[in-house]
Amino acid sequence: MAAGQRVIVAGAGPVGLLSALALANQDIPVTVLEAEPALTHDLRAGTYHPPSLEIMAQYGVTDEMHETAIKVPRWQMRDRKLGLIVEWDLTEIADLTPYPYRLHFEQHKLTPLLYARLMRFPHAEVKFSHAVTNVVQTADKVIVTTQSPDGQPGRFEADWLVGADGGRSVVRRSIDAELEGFTWPERFVVIGTSVDLSLRGYAFNAYVADPDEWCALFKMPGERPPGFWRVLFPVPPDESDEVALSPENVERRMQGFETLGERYPVVSKIIYRVHQRVARKFRVGRVVLAGDAAHLNNPLGAFGLNGGIQDSANLTDKLGRICRGEGDAALLDLYERQRRTVNLEFVQEYSIRNFKRLAAKSPAERQANIDELRRTDANSEARRQFMRVSTMIASVQRANAIQ
Ligand SMILES: Cc1cc2nc3c(=O)[nH]c(=O)nc-3n(C[C@H](O)[C@H](O)[C@H](O)COP(=O)(O)OP(=O)(O)OC[C@H]3O[C@@H](n4cnc5c(N)ncnc54)[C@H](O)[C@@H]3O)c2cc1C
Repeated sequence: MAAGQRVIVAGAGPVGLLSALALANQDIPVTVLEAEPALTHDLRAGTYHPPSLEIMAQYGVTDEMHETAIKVPRWQMRDRKLGLIVEWDLTEIADLTPYPYRLHFEQHKLTPLLYARLMRFPHAEVKFSHAVTNVVQTADKVIVTTQSPDGQPGRFEADWLVGADGGRSVVRRSIDAELEGFTWPERFVVIGTSVDLSLRGYAFNAYVADPDEWCALFKMPGERPPGFWRVLFPVPPDESDEVALSPENVERRMQGFETLGERYPVVSKIIYRVHQRVARKFRVGRVVLAGDAAHLNNPLGAFGLNGGIQDSANLTDKLGRICRGEGDAALLDLYERQRRTVNLEFVQEYSIRNFKRLAAKSPAERQANIDELRRTDANSEARRQFMRVSTMIASVQRANAIQ
């Protein structure tokens, strides 16, 4: 066991569980404190980029995901009226990664895989129904107070605390790390349907630009083959959640996107608010933030959860070294410099750019976007660079180069 140092992780979401697994795997005792009574099952992220698959492969998680996940080597940029603009083929960068594709696999299926592996370590524990309510630091430890749903208080001590408690992070508030950025006026509605959209020419992942109602498509594994399709649309500020989720409006949006000639079978629907925000700091003393607790972005490009997975790998490598006495706490400042910088430069920058490209209104702007995509596609170096960026390979390399 590593030098007796202990870590608490707040939050048993994907970033918290992966962080705990990476620490336990380095023989570091770890306690995960989760507010909910069990792992959450809501439909959220579901696209994994190559660096995330490489990170999780070392724990056997990536292989297990592949048993039921959908590989997406080709994905499309389209225009609702003009059809296909560009189809990217990630096998062109097979020299850069063993996983030259996007992998589609629901987030709520990943967390049980991480949890099961974590539970194999006798020095790891997950305490459900333990909501973190307060954090206090002294010179040599961090003290975390929790509360159970029936009001039972709890108290935990450790050397380090990882705040992976999501967008409304209590840990983030405890270190006064304000989230800076903005919230889009539009919300996103995501409609699930069993209609096979590949028969209409769509790749398993496609982004469809339109000045009135753009959309994004993802083929997901679902509970069994052949899976289902998720179609994401923007919802204007003056349309309420209830109206957007009503059967009439779900049907209107789906038929507007692709006329079916019959009612769409709808298997799921959710609506959520979309933010572009980054915490002012990722670390204060013995407390460090990762994942949605540290940053939020729109899902166009699938940088949110993937960015959190990359935070987790970067942070747990450094925490491991600190716990073994191979480095000091300054490594956590390096973590902040590396991961906060690439979140601003890359995740925020490109997710905002993706949103604007899909939603562009003026004919001149739309044409300029199309011309740029076609120019990129026509030049093998530019195409390769585009794929390095969109797979997040470039951002991981950039983070690692920061000192
Ligand atoms: C509705 C929705 C849809 C999304 N869709 C997409 C998508 O399509 N594509 C995409 O890339 N991303 C999407 N995202 C973002 C993606 O799901 C997140 O980036 C990802 O969940 C981040 O993982 P995380 O572990 O950091 O945080 P979370 O998954 O939020 O996990 C945080 C965990 O902490 C727990 N917790 C919270 N407060 C406390 C507390 N006080 N004490 C203890 N535990 C606590 C929570 O219960 C939860 O288990 C979506 C997010 C939402 C909310």
